[in-house]
Amino acid sequence: MSDVVIIGSGISGMLVARELCAEKLSVTIVERTAATGQESSWAGGGIISPLYPWQYDAAVTRLAHWSQLEYRALCESLFAATGIDPEWTKNGLLIMTDELEQATGWAEQFGEVLQVVDEQTIQEIEPAFAYPGGTAVWMPQVAQVRNPRLLKALKVFLEQHKVNFVTGAEVQGFVTVKDRLQGIKTSQGELQADRVVVASGAWSQSLLTTVDQNVPRIEPVQGQMLLFKAAPALVRRIVLSEQRYVIPRRDGRVLVGSTLEHVGFRKQATETARAELHAMALKLIPALADCPVEHHWAGLRPGSPQGVPYIYEHPTIRSLYVNCGHYRNGVVMGPAAARLLADQVLARPPILSIAPYSLTSRPADREIDRAK
Ligand SMILES: Cc1cc2nc3c(=O)[nH]c(=O)nc-3n(C[C@H](O)[C@H](O)[C@H](O)COP(=O)(O)OP(=O)(O)OC[C@H]3O[C@@H](n4cnc5c(N)ncnc54)[C@H](O)[C@@H]3O)c2cc1C
Repeated sequence: MSDVVIIGSGISGMLVARELCAEKLSVTIVERTAATGQESSWAGGGIISPLYPWQYDAAVTRLAHWSQLEYRALCESLFAATGIDPEWTKNGLLIMTDELEQATGWAEQFGEVLQVVDEQTIQEIEPAFAYPGGTAVWMPQVAQVRNPRLLKALKVFLEQHKVNFVTGAEVQGFVTVKDRLQGIKTSQGELQADRVVVASGAWSQSLLTTVDQNVPRIEPVQGQMLLFKAAPALVRRIVLSEQRYVIPRRDGRVLVGSTLEHVGFRKQATETARAELHAMALKLIPALADCPVEHHWAGLRPGSPQGVPYIYEHPTIRSLYVNCGHYRNGVVMGPAAARLLADQVLARPPILSIAPYSLTSRPADREIDRAK
């Protein structure tokens, strides 16, 4: 029997496993699908910043900020240990926006590097960008990771540290005696466990409902992405305009995203979204017209009220922990969220106040913010 069982092999589950291994706990990760890390964490863009970061609650900024300071070292240590490079790359984020006062006020409050830039500077920052007129801010410190590679590196690292992966096993409920947790029920049978972490992304609410009606408010929000095959350095910066962005990878590939669709658990890449993302990509970067689309996919974000994740020990079922609801920012908030959860499992002083992420701090009937 492992010291801790984690449900879900996305970035939220694997980063918690990494934290617990570092403290010599034995860990099992149980994953529903045949392979690990194939859901939202794979589908995402890997920008190490919220989009329009000043629009978010301070609880999101604090986790993002803590992680941003750690990301480079995290990726370098995984690369050194596994030979798989998550491609942490600081190429900055250029945002077209007229919310200059809010943006600069936020940057001042949280000590973030953000500059208001004029037309000439915008064109110097990203010559391939078809500047449409209007105002912009530049965040030169923002980095990205190639998230599928980060997930692969994490998996190999965790295997090196004897984490046990059980794949193709859907967790269907929990075994409790009174309010004491004794294990989980899976499609492959029961597994004993004293401590369980739910890191099941968009599926976390329904899973937690099997044990208690007092659950986090999580809703799937579909996002679709397009991938262009382009020459290296055709695009150099992450550019965000009209809620759509381009992300250039080191090998020249360019990701374009992303839609926000409230369509339940249906995960489907559609022709309508493909056409809309394609048109937007060419509007932002006209040179992409000559580049083939290599891939088009969809993922389900774990939507939560205001995008603030739930990171807590269950108020009545001791040793049941939750790390879910990271919505649009699970990659950037991942390391801090995992550390904060591990602090609770290990009864350590937390890196940040845990109050904003608890179940009780937010009414269960609060709407998922559909605007962001
Ligand atoms: C298109 C798109 C773009 C994005 N871009 C960014 C970005 O640029 N930056 C950023 O920070 N974030 C981004 N995100 C958000 C980010 O990807 C998510 O917030 C994050 O991946 C959530 O990670 P997770 O591990 O909680 O969930 P997931 O990665 O979805 O992992 C949950 C896992 O739990 C498993 N599971 C579910 N139920 C069960 C069960 N009952 N039993 C066993 N296993 C189960 C699932 O199969 C899955 O593997 C984006 C998301 C999308 C979709």
